[in-house]
Amino acid sequence: MDYKNTKEFATEQDNKDPLKKFRNQFEIPRLNDVETVYFTGNSLGLLPTKGREAINQELNDWGKLGVEGHFEAKNPWYSYHEQFKPLLSKVVGAKNHEVTALGGLTGNLHLLMVSFYRPTPKRYKILCEGKAFPSDQYALESQVKFHGYRAEDAIVELNPREGEHHLRKEDILSAIEEHGPEISLIMIGGVNYYTGQVMPMKEITKAGHELGAIVGFDLAHAFGNIELKLHEWGVDFAAWCSYKYLNSGPGSVAGIYVHERHGENENLPRFAGWWGTPSEGRFKMEKGFKPAIGSDGWQLSNAPVLSMAIHKIALEIHLEAGLENLREKQKTLTGYLAFVLNEISNDDSKIKFEIITPKERGSQLSILTHGGGKPLFDLMTKKGVIADWREPNVIRVAPVPLYNSYMDVFRFGSIIKESIKELA
Ligand SMILES: *Cc1c(COP(=O)(O)O)cnc(C)c1O
Repeated sequence: MDYKNTKEFATEQDNKDPLKKFRNQFEIPRLNDVETVYFTGNSLGLLPTKGREAINQELNDWGKLGVEGHFEAKNPWYSYHEQFKPLLSKVVGAKNHEVTALGGLTGNLHLLMVSFYRPTPKRYKILCEGKAFPSDQYALESQVKFHGYRAEDAIVELNPREGEHHLRKEDILSAIEEHGPEISLIMIGGVNYYTGQVMPMKEITKAGHELGAIVGFDLAHAFGNIELKLHEWGVDFAAWCSYKYLNSGPGSVAGIYVHERHGENENLPRFAGWWGTPSEGRFKMEKGFKPAIGSDGWQLSNAPVLSMAIHKIALEIHLEAGLENLREKQKTLTGYLAFVLNEISNDDSKIKFEIITPKERGSQLSILTHGGGKPLFDLMTKKGVIADWREPNVIRVAPVPLYNSYMDVFRFGSIIKESIKELA
C-alpha cells in the first residue's frame, strides 16, 4: 500500500474500512474528555459495551432464580462452558471437542504439564524460549523441580544470536535436532510477548514430533491475533488467556486445546475435578473419576459464569468481524504504524526508532528507542497515548484491527513528533 503520514490519508482509510463499525462497540478510554490512542490491546483488550448487558443477564437470573439458575437461567450455568466450543475452535483452528474454556492461563499450563510433561531419566528436558514471560518461566521451573530435576540442567532456552533480537527459524530447528533425544517437552510462546515474533509453530511441532517430544504452545499473544491451525499442525496442547486480543476483561476465564489423540486417552495422568466428568452423570456424585472425552476432561470446577458472559460476547464480536477481515486490516494497520515510525526516524537525527519485531508478526510492534527513552514515553502518555514501556528501552504497541483506526496511528505519530519537539 502507498502510505502517507497525513490526516487525509488516515481519514480516507477509515472511511473505507469494512470493520469501522466495530470501534463503536468498544469503550475507548478517554483523557481530558478526548479518546486516548489505545495501543495496549495486546495487554488488556477494551470493554465491549455489550459485555455490560451480558453480565447483567446473569446477575438478573441469579437474583430471580438463585440456585435454580444452574438449569433455569436463560443460558443455564450448568452447561455454560459448553457454549464456547464452536467459538473457540474457530479462533484456534481445532475441533470442537479439542477446546474448552476454564481457569486461568498459568494454572492451565500447570494442569496440562501434569499430563504432558512426564520426564524419564533419559528424556527430561524442556525446550523453551529464553526470557519467556515470567509466569511461564516460573511454571516451567517449578514443574521441573517437582519431578526432581534441576532447572539449570533440565530447561534449555533458545536465545537470539548475538546482536539480533529475535530467533531464527533455522536456529530453533537445529536446537530441537541437537537436544532432541533428551527433550520431553517443547513449550514456547506462539507469539513472543516481548518482540511480537510469530513462531513457526507448524515446523516446530513437526520437528519436535520427529524426535519424540511433546509440543505445546502458550498462545497468550497469539489467541485472537494471528491465524492458528492447531489441529492441522498436530500440536499436542495449548493454553491461552482471553483478556488480551480477546477483550474478555481483566483476569477473565482462559482456555485450552488438547489434540483429540490425547483427549480420547482416558489413561493420561491428570489432576481431576468434578467438572471434568461427563455432564450426564456428574450429579450422581459417585466415587471414581472418569474423564469426559476431549479437552473437557481437564475441567475442574463449575463455570465462572460472570467472566464467561463477557468472554462469550467478545468471541461473538470477534467472529462477526471475521478472522480473515481482521488479518487483512491487521496487515495494513500495523504496516501503517511501521511506515509512520520509520518516517519519524528518518526526519529526526537525534531520535531513532528501531522496530525489533520481525516480518513474521501479528498486530504488535516492539520498538527499541535510541534517544528519547522513558522521558519521551512519559510525555506521550501525558498527551493521551496508552502504550507499554519495557526496561531498558522498548515500547510495545499494538494497533488492534477490531477497534483501532488509521487515525489512531496518525495521532500516535503526531504525538511522538510533538513530544520530541518539546523535549528538545
Ligand atoms: C499475559 C501472559 C501471561 C499471564 O498469565 P496469567 O496466568 O493470565 O496471569 C502468561 N504468559 C504469557 C506468555 C503472557 O503473555
